[in-house]
Amino acid sequence: MRVVSPYFNSKSYIWAKGNLHSHTSISDGLYTPQEIVNKYASNGYDFLMISEHDMVYEPNGMDSRGMILIKGSEVTLEGPHILHVNATNNVFHYPDRQKVINEIVEDGGFAIINHPNWEENFNHCPQALLEALQNYTGIEIYNGIVRRLPGNPNATDRWDLLLSKGRIVWGFANDDAHWEETFCVAWNVAQVEKLSLECILDALKNGRFYASTGVEIQKIEVKDRTFHISTRNATKCAVISMYGRRIFEVKGKDIVYELEEDLGFPYIRFEFWGEGEEQAWTQPFLIDND
Ligand SMILES: [Zn+2]
Ligand SMILES: [Zn+2]
Repeated sequence: MRVVSPYFNSKSYIWAKGNLHSHTSISDGLYTPQEIVNKYASNGYDFLMISEHDMVYEPNGMDSRGMILIKGSEVTLEGPHILHVNATNNVFHYPDRQKVINEIVEDGGFAIINHPNWEENFNHCPQALLEALQNYTGIEIYNGIVRRLPGNPNATDRWDLLLSKGRIVWGFANDDAHWEETFCVAWNVAQVEKLSLECILDALKNGRFYASTGVEIQKIEVKDRTFHISTRNATKCAVISMYGRRIFEVKGKDIVYELEEDLGFPYIRFEFWGEGEEQAWTQPFLIDND
């Protein structure tokens, strides 16, 4: 049995915090691009993507306030929304979302399926479509604006369904910032060797990050079958596995978990809860059971 961790084990690294989903007054957001950059920078963010609807925004001439700005868009019209991360060119909103994903990849970027549980039917992106689509990097397991809209901001249910069927997709938490209450509520924290666009994209593409709404993970270590994860402020930690079942839980801010030899499940992942709505989610650790 072998555990495949997406995280650095011993290498020295820094944590970089960022949001990949924000709208400005150029589309339907309340603030100008520079105002948004100022907001995130003053809240301690290291990277940010402005993701206008069906349009790649060129941040030329903007003061990045020390953050790494990632170019992107949200493919919106005619189907479930998809984030185009690290965009060079606009990708057309083809109703065939596979075509959208293929073009995003050809453009040198990667795709994240947005807010699957949004809308009154809790089904903005049907599970059958999530399963049929190929070559996307992740899904939003938490979307900040859906707190204020019909549906469920949380989509770990969709994620566990995919992971249980052997799909490798990463879980992202994003604000989907439009107006005041949707800023700085959900983010991703990447393990990077240095603060550069290249390192951040590499971490996000390869699952070397965790998603958060407030719990801060400080250390993730895997040695053989033993996991040590420390947080600054969790009050409860749990191990989640196939089809969402919770196989271990412990109170406090740290967790030490030894994987059972004969678990027989393809992955485990860790969830943390803190005060109020604070949570954090690691990416899945894949288990090679042969
Ligand atoms: Zn959207
Ligand atoms: Zn959006």
